[in-house]
Amino acid sequence: MANDEKLEEMTGKTILVFCAHPDDDSFYCAGTLAKLVKNNNKVIMVFYTNGNKGSHDLEMTSERLAKIRKQEEESACEVIGIKPENIIWMGYDDGELEYANPKELCGKTARLIRMYRPDVVISFDPGRFFRQWHKTDHSMAAFNTVDGARAAAYHLYFPEHLLYENLMPFMVKDFFFFASKEPNYEVDVSDVIELKLLSQSKHVSQQGSAHYKYSPTMTEEEQEELKKRIEDAKGKKHVERFRRGGTDY
Ligand SMILES: [Zn+2]
Repeated sequence: MANDEKLEEMTGKTILVFCAHPDDDSFYCAGTLAKLVKNNNKVIMVFYTNGNKGSHDLEMTSERLAKIRKQEEESACEVIGIKPENIIWMGYDDGELEYANPKELCGKTARLIRMYRPDVVISFDPGRFFRQWHKTDHSMAAFNTVDGARAAAYHLYFPEHLLYENLMPFMVKDFFFFASKEPNYEVDVSDVIELKLLSQSKHVSQQGSAHYKYSPTMTEEEQEELKKRIEDAKGKKHVERFRRGGTDY
């Protein structure tokens, strides 16, 4: 492990978070991100896809859903203190990341890493020794993020970044992978659990009745349920688990 400074105690760092879909952050690591923001770190979110397929509403279109999900993600990020200008959308179609041009995808990630030069990268776990199961976009996001990070370290990969944009190579030294089957790091998010649940609740189109028949707001019943869930969660211990990995490339 390259670094043993605790993630939740870091301050003044740049954190680059790669997610497959708008809402992955809210469910997997929103508590940790809320703490990082509170501790004055710069948190930049990257979404590979625009989430434009996840609705059972037969009247929904992909174009409309992409807009809705962008707004929902911006609201979810606002809850934990991340501004829209710190959200980067790669814009790939939901569920089809594995059909993206692999070299282009890797280059985009490498470019962002060279631009932002993050102290920490947070993403899906590609697995330490073997390929872990994920739904396809999650798997692609996991592997592409580490492949892009590796490429970012060597100037001979995507040399156009240096040639045309003066982006120097950069080696990511500290990774925190969520959705891991081999977690080795735990962040206590009990003190920000309300923010995490509120952040999750902003993804209205992905849950409850709006998943089947879109409405921009939760039903009154769903709002009551959320209040109850927040009350129930307070005073209990909540953690988010990661696999912390250094670089071995
Ligand atoms: Zn997802």
